[in-house]
Amino acid sequence: MSAVASASFRVRVGDADAIMDATSFVRFEGVRKSYDGKQFVVDDLNLAVRKGEFLTMLGPSGSGKTTSLMMLGGFEAPTFGHIFLDDEPVERLPPEKRNIGFVFQNYALFPHMTVAENVAFPLRYRGIKGRAAAGRIAKALAMVHLGHLGERKPSQLSGGQQQRVALARALVFDPTLVLMDEPLGALDKQLREHMQVEIKQLQRMLGITMVYVTHDQGEALTMSDRIAVFNDGRIQQLATPEVLYEQPANRFVAGFIGENNLIPAHVTRIENGTAVMALGDGTILRAPAATATRSSGASTLAIRPERFFVDTGDTPETNRLSGTVSELFYLGDHLRIAVDVGAEKPIVARIPALQRLPLACGDTIALRCHVHDCRLLEA
Ligand code: ADP
Ligand code: MG
Repeated sequence: MSAVASASFRVRVGDADAIMDATSFVRFEGVRKSYDGKQFVVDDLNLAVRKGEFLTMLGPSGSGKTTSLMMLGGFEAPTFGHIFLDDEPVERLPPEKRNIGFVFQNYALFPHMTVAENVAFPLRYRGIKGRAAAGRIAKALAMVHLGHLGERKPSQLSGGQQQRVALARALVFDPTLVLMDEPLGALDKQLREHMQVEIKQLQRMLGITMVYVTHDQGEALTMSDRIAVFNDGRIQQLATPEVLYEQPANRFVAGFIGENNLIPAHVTRIENGTAVMALGDGTILRAPAATATRSSGASTLAIRPERFFVDTGDTPETNRLSGTVSELFYLGDHLRIAVDVGAEKPIVARIPALQRLPLACGDTIALRCHVHDCRLLEA
């Protein structure tokens, strides 16, 4: 029996293996979607979302996030492949039979209905009326702090309040799965950050499974248990925020999540698990060799701006890059400097402002970073 309970199988997701076990609640298997019969805008999507998980689909515009969400919600059909909800295939189920809450980017509230009527809408669909409905509506509106505004029309609310109504409407029928497509895109930065925390708290409190779509990497890092990074209709990497940031699988992820210096480098040899490489000007740098690192050839070295520090010693040290300061910005908590080291692009470094460096553009500076803060990627 225990063998069955713990049975799991592996499905390839980009470069990572995702384990799909008994706790996976949503499953995409080999899903492909073409609108025009020529091009796949979602290509070989394999993804398992665990029960109670907050999973974000993150990627640039046009990478296939909305299409993936629409297929899960039942508003679009996969061209190939299958989608399972709680181990049941859902392709033939219409949206209202999937018991999924949906928050669209544009809220999609009914303008002629009051707030309470908008929130009541999914209940009517499910035949919940009268006192039972009233109780649920009151609870859902209280959850999003709109208990006092039930009689207003959407046009009498601010953008943030309308968004909360959409949230209440998605939660009112106690769905086990909620999908959100860029729900905070129209809000200003402060409100957006506030709502990120609030949505995350609601999701945890209610124990719902969330599939959330955004193109904003900061939002994804703040809210998610795991993030699927999309580009060109494919998942580039599926991992926790920390793993995505510290161990990006490829150049795309390294450049999309946070800021990175992506430096062309040439690996000359591998010594005790350390790759030794030369930059264009002959500077030697070292990085942990990834398992796939070839002992010679073109690579990309990824180094985060905040991992650099200013080297004050005169002796040659490991991973030391010297050059001329070409740009310098004081940003309160840190200095942002661009250093021309003779590479294709200047190196960007964030130096804590506490160090109070007497720096100016045109100065010569030496930057260093630890070997373990360098990440070698395929070119
Ligand atoms: P994202 O949400 O990541 O911005 P989408 O899933 O909306 O990406 O779009 C992926 C690709 O599919 C884009 O090239 C887009 O133009 C195309 N697309 C999206 N919806 C439709 C549609 N209904 N008909 C035809 N093409 C579409
Ligand atoms: Mg979209």
